[in-house]
Amino acid sequence: MLTGIHFLLTYMCNLECDHCFVYSGPNAKGTFTLSQIRQVLDEATKIGTIKWIYFEGGEPFLFYPLMIEGIKIARKMGFKVGIVTNAYFAISEEDAELWLKPLLELGISDLGISDDSLHYEDEKDNLAKRALSTAKRLGVPVGSICIEKPTVKIGIDKEQVKGEPVIGGGAMFRGRAVEKLSEGLPKRWWKEFKECPYEDLKEPKRVHIDPYGNVHLCQGLSIGNMWRKPLSTLIKDYAADSHPICGPLVKGGPALLAKEHNVKHEDKYVDACHFCYLIRLALIDKFPEFLTPKQVYGLE
Ligand code: SF4
Repeated sequence: MLTGIHFLLTYMCNLECDHCFVYSGPNAKGTFTLSQIRQVLDEATKIGTIKWIYFEGGEPFLFYPLMIEGIKIARKMGFKVGIVTNAYFAISEEDAELWLKPLLELGISDLGISDDSLHYEDEKDNLAKRALSTAKRLGVPVGSICIEKPTVKIGIDKEQVKGEPVIGGGAMFRGRAVEKLSEGLPKRWWKEFKECPYEDLKEPKRVHIDPYGNVHLCQGLSIGNMWRKPLSTLIKDYAADSHPICGPLVKGGPALLAKEHNVKHEDKYVDACHFCYLIRLALIDKFPEFLTPKQVYGLE
C-alpha cells in the first residue's frame, strides 16, 4: 500500500556531494512549478492511501516560496509533511529561525537535516548542527541524517559473515557515489546479489516524483511518467512482474536482471546497488521510459 509521496522538488543543489544518488549540483536542471505540485497532490488524494508528503531534492530550500506554498496546500488537504535539507541557510541562529519558524506554523511533522562529513567537513561552522539546535528550540520535529565516507572492517559483528570485509558509513552505491566512492573498496561475487535489499519493488510504500513527471521506485528506476498518464492510474496499473527492470529485480535481484537482459558485466561488485546501478546504466537506451532521467545516471 502506497503511503508516501516524495517530491524531488528540484534537482538543483548548492552542494555537489560525492554520495548524491541523483547527481544534484548547482547546475542540475529541473524544478517543479506550482501547478505541477497541485497536480501531484490532487492525484495523491485520488490514490486514497497516501498519508505523507515529503519535500526533498536536490535542495528544496533553494525554492523556498514554492516549497512553503506546496506545504500549505498539502497540509490543507490533510497530509502529514516532511522535508529533507542540508540546512545551508542556517548562517546564524537568527537566520535559521527566520527560515524554520514558518515550518512550525505550518505544522510539519518531520524535518530531516543532513549532518555528516560528506556535507560539512568543517566542524567549526556546521550549519546542520546550528539548524538542528534551532529547530529543537523552536519545537520543530527534527532529526539528523548521517552518512559517512565508506569504511572497511573485517567481519566481527553478528550480522556479518566471519572474516568477510564489510563496508560501513551508510553510503549507497548509486548515482555519483558509484563514480566517486566505490574505487578501492572490497567487492563480492556478482551471483551473491540475488535480491534488492532496500526497496519494496513489488508493493512500494513510497514513490519519488521528479519535475519531469517520472515516478521513481528507486532513483532513476521509473514506473512511468505522470505528465503522460495520471499518477493514480500509474499506481493502480503497476505490476512488478510486467515491468522489464523491476520484474527480474523482484524475482532474483541484480544478478537476474543482468542475466535476463544479457548484459556483459564484471565478476565482482561492492554491493547489490552498485551492481544494479551499472546494469541499469548499460540498459538505459533500451528502456528509456523506465530508466530515466539520464541526468540521474550522470549522463547529461
Ligand atoms: S538493488 Fe537496485 S533497485 Fe534495489 S535499492 Fe539498490 S539500486 Fe535500488
